[in-house]
Amino acid sequence: MTTIHSVNKVIVLQSGYSREDAENPNAMRANCTCTLIRCRDGTNVIVDTMTSWDGEHLKSLLAKEGLEVNDIHIVVCTHGHSDHIGCNYLFQAAGLHLVGACASYRDLYMDHFGSGNPDEELKLDKNGEVVVQRTPGHTLSCVSVIVDNTETERKIGITGDLFERVEDVEDQNIWLDAGSEDEKQQRVQRSRIAELCDYIVPGHGPIFAVDDRIRDKLKEDMKKE
Ligand SMILES: [Zn+2]
Repeated sequence: MTTIHSVNKVIVLQSGYSREDAENPNAMRANCTCTLIRCRDGTNVIVDTMTSWDGEHLKSLLAKEGLEVNDIHIVVCTHGHSDHIGCNYLFQAAGLHLVGACASYRDLYMDHFGSGNPDEELKLDKNGEVVVQRTPGHTLSCVSVIVDNTETERKIGITGDLFERVEDVEDQNIWLDAGSEDEKQQRVQRSRIAELCDYIVPGHGPIFAVDDRIRDKLKEDMKKE
């Protein structure tokens, strides 16, 4: 089903979470934030597909938006961890699966981020308003999707685990404990994305608005390094 809209719609299908397991303090319970982008040119993008056990659940979330799995044109996983890629197999009609900066279709692997230029962007829609950017840190291959011209007329960043949830701005142990392959780069990217975006959809929490207090804090965190 292809629908033309006047703006790009960002729909958080499910807000993610991460917390200590009630029974085992050495284990975590976590699932990712799963987001649908309905681009105004009719392209449907899903960002982060939860665990492999969430297939039926994800289908029902899409059905609430009037969509089936074959209506998704592009799959983006912000990085390759199992709670962000689990249901990629559902989207067999998609022309592109992007896992971090690695792009594929069936057994064909494409070199979209092969320029070596860290600022290289991949446009997902015909209008160039929905783009993928590299945001290394949590993993070195991490990407974020930046959506311009949204219903709120604001820019929305879907960042995966660059941000765990809004609380990690004040308490950086939250994102550090979630694992960071490069803390320094992650601080730089967190500040950059906060400067760029009005809202952030984090990897394991609900969407939040970015204000100057948040931007100032992230800028300070970056300078400490
Ligand atoms: Zn995650």
